[in-house]
Amino acid sequence: MGTPKKKKKSQTLESQFHFDLNLCSKNKDLLGAISLFESAISNGTRLNHHHFNALLYLCSNSVSDHSLKDSALDNGFRIFDRMLSAGISPNEASITAVARLAAAKSDGDHAFELVRTMGKHNAVPRLRTYDPALFCFVEKSEAEKAYEVEEHMGMAGVSLEEAEIAALLRVSSETGKGEKVYEYLHKLRCSVRCASESTAKIIEDWFCGKKACEVGEVGWEVGKVREAVFRNGGGWHGRGWIGKGEWIVRRTSVDWSGQCCCCGDKLFCVDIDDEETEKLAQSVASLAMEREVKSNFSKFQDWLDKNADYEAIVDGANVGLYQQNFADGGFSVSQLDSVVKELYNKSGNKWPLVVLHNKRYRALLENPSNRKLVDEWMDKGILYTTPTGSNDDWYWLYTTVKLRCLLVTNDEMRDHIFELLGSSFFLKWKERHQVRYTFVKGNLKLQMPPLYSSVIQESEKGAWHVPIAGDSGEESERTWLCITRPSVYKVLDEVFPIEDSSPIGGCLQLQQCTSNNIANRNDIRGNLDSSDTSNDKPTVVTGKRKERCFSTS
Ligand SMILES: [Zn+2]
Repeated sequence: MGTPKKKKKSQTLESQFHFDLNLCSKNKDLLGAISLFESAISNGTRLNHHHFNALLYLCSNSVSDHSLKDSALDNGFRIFDRMLSAGISPNEASITAVARLAAAKSDGDHAFELVRTMGKHNAVPRLRTYDPALFCFVEKSEAEKAYEVEEHMGMAGVSLEEAEIAALLRVSSETGKGEKVYEYLHKLRCSVRCASESTAKIIEDWFCGKKACEVGEVGWEVGKVREAVFRNGGGWHGRGWIGKGEWIVRRTSVDWSGQCCCCGDKLFCVDIDDEETEKLAQSVASLAMEREVKSNFSKFQDWLDKNADYEAIVDGANVGLYQQNFADGGFSVSQLDSVVKELYNKSGNKWPLVVLHNKRYRALLENPSNRKLVDEWMDKGILYTTPTGSNDDWYWLYTTVKLRCLLVTNDEMRDHIFELLGSSFFLKWKERHQVRYTFVKGNLKLQMPPLYSSVIQESEKGAWHVPIAGDSGEESERTWLCITRPSVYKVLDEVFPIEDSSPIGGCLQLQQCTSNNIANRNDIRGNLDSSDTSNDKPTVVTGKRKERCFSTS
């Protein structure tokens, strides 16, 4: 029965404990905190959620200190048990701390069990909650268990980052699981632009290892692989290891045009894949439909279906109003004209499409000196005017996505409307399709998309190029891993003599890359060989040692 006096005394004890524990946390004083915990237990001080978490955190943080490890482990688990028996639900931070303790004991199973059962405390795991179990399994080369952790992360909606993917790659490599290595290389490609030095080392170790020589198929359909590269937006095919035999791993650089200085392969400016493009076009269209007068936008879509032959779209207002914030500044038709002409010249005489709001178009017509030019644009199908009340952003964005072409605008597309798209691939799309521009003393300069992307790339010859993260901001100074399989090059050289350098075999459904689509073909920069091919039959490279041939059956 608490008399007022007793209550007051316990309050004093609690606040004193609280104060002292905070001090220990601040000073990372594990032993001090443990003795506070002991006396709190013996004098019946009530510990709350914060106190338990502070104690657990101190323990988990002390395991790396050799002299404290044993004490941290013994007391950490005891504190956690006490927390549970006191009826205080652990949260994510508590579980993470205890999972770290379990991992410090090399008990990955326990660490994983803690994550698996945290739902009963209504706690939601984060990436860091999984790390102790995952890294523990990797250290012990328990690949299957590591994969289980990854699977659980997927179910919990937790995404892996470079450290986790690299760890899974490592355990797969060390246990000789070639298919898994392939899978994780692709996961790495998807989520990391440049690999860290430690990840690069793991990749090198795999390719220099014995097992890597054994993986792969000797018969592969060259055309199918190439088709997959294009369908994926360039930079990867995902069809598995190609060829057999040893790999050559070298550190090299890539020249300004994206050519590997080691093997001579040309790297891609990687685009989003077909599925992502379709998804992006659909989400732009459905957002536009919500916000625009529906019939206007669908009328435009119909128009676009019939007039799909553009290689570049111009955000007319953005170009016309560029640097016009001076007295007498208005809409510069001459700037727009320069952009139109430059695109026409660069693309081998194809007119771009300028998207312009109706009200601006009418204002331009009011000025007799513009009229002739604007009429000419109309006649040549260069101009599309968006209806009154519309937001022309939807129109140029939709067109560019749909036609997979280039977009001339300095708009960074960070407005709310682009945020609505919210897709992870929008940035990647922008990198590949946006052309920025400047006018220096009236002279136009177009800044084309980069010639290649500094991302992990898999070539149609099964080679890998891995950019390594560095301190230098200069792309030209970046170190790359160039990983090739000489036997594959040899086979391809024999099958396709050197003079035939363009298409390697059957290129099915390559309308997108064989049409005059500059965004895909880089024609406007003239840096992509013609992918046209008349051979629509699959080309199979066989691995027969004596008579390497390809069947067209
Ligand atoms: Zn190379």
